[in-house]
Amino acid sequence: MADISALIGALQGQQIPFLEQEPLSRHTTFRIGGPAAVFCLPETPAQLLRTAELCREYGVRTYLLGNGSNTLFADEGFDGAVICTVDLRTPITVTGTTVSAAAGASLAAVCREAQKAGLTGLEFAYGIPGTVGGAVYMNAGAYGGELKQVLSRVTFLDSDLHLETLPVEELALGYRTSRFETDGGCILEATFQLQPGDPQAIEARMQELMARRREKQPLEMPSAGSTFKRPEGAFAGQLIEQSGLRGFAVGGAAVSTKHCGFVVNTGGATCADVIQLTDEIQKIVEEKTGYHLSREIRVVR
Ligand SMILES: Cc1cc2nc3c(=O)[nH]c(=O)nc-3n(C[C@H](O)[C@H](O)[C@H](O)COP(=O)(O)OP(=O)(O)OC[C@H]3O[C@@H](n4cnc5c(N)ncnc54)[C@H](O)[C@@H]3O)c2cc1C
Repeated sequence: MADISALIGALQGQQIPFLEQEPLSRHTTFRIGGPAAVFCLPETPAQLLRTAELCREYGVRTYLLGNGSNTLFADEGFDGAVICTVDLRTPITVTGTTVSAAAGASLAAVCREAQKAGLTGLEFAYGIPGTVGGAVYMNAGAYGGELKQVLSRVTFLDSDLHLETLPVEELALGYRTSRFETDGGCILEATFQLQPGDPQAIEARMQELMARRREKQPLEMPSAGSTFKRPEGAFAGQLIEQSGLRGFAVGGAAVSTKHCGFVVNTGGATCADVIQLTDEIQKIVEEKTGYHLSREIRVVR
């Protein structure tokens, strides 16, 4: 049986930052989600390890959260401990052509450091609103680039909470997936291998890609980015548009009128709204086009 009070007592005793009954809508870009029984904010890898150990000891289930830009929490919330990495931010370090960053660092911050150091390769990732940990887990990508191309190695706690470092070849990075999806584990740090480049050209490319995002994507509304994975041989957004679903809504959740690949929260959307809407989109798209869409966003209940 989960012993939340014992966990809270232990976190207090060990001075590990946490919040109780914290609304998860505050920690996801969808702005959806009920409260987490415990919301842990470890500031060092040692605190994160201790938090994970304590959750095991007291039988409390856990969910690892970065910036919540690909996560949809249930309206009922999460009855265990959400362990959020955003305060796990040791300085980003640049050594020659390699850049290392803690799991909680934002991808944007890593891209800016690389640009300042005149290192090219990460420009594609500049507008992805995730943390390093979430981006490695998802093998995030955009505009023809993906983390797999620039990642060199990752240090993580495996599912037995042992510290491990593996090179990129052993991380099973595929289209929006990694070994962390199948084997679990908590990413602590990632190292990127970049190439020397011209800081001005790197900056110009980052700004150009950001402008393309602003033009095409509904960045002014809460969402979790592309709702569905790209099916082989097609684009989810185009299939949704072809199926006549632009603006299609359930409650406060709607297919963006600016980019049909995004479900947006138009105000007061619930998780149930998003689930019902995405189920209906899947059904209608399959009937009309024959393509099956699978969700890219992580649903946590
Ligand atoms: C406006 C918008 C635009 C977007 N554009 C893109 C895009 O162009 N390309 C793209 O790929 N994605 C895009 N996304 C989706 C999202 O930003 C990425 O998937 C991002 O990598 C998720 O990072 P996060 O820190 O927010 O992850 P979260 O949502 O917090 O977590 C995502 C998954 O990673 C796991 N995780 C998080 N941290 C760790 C860790 N330290 N160790 C182990 N597992 C962990 C979580 O448990 C979860 O399963 C977009 C989202 C939005 C809102």
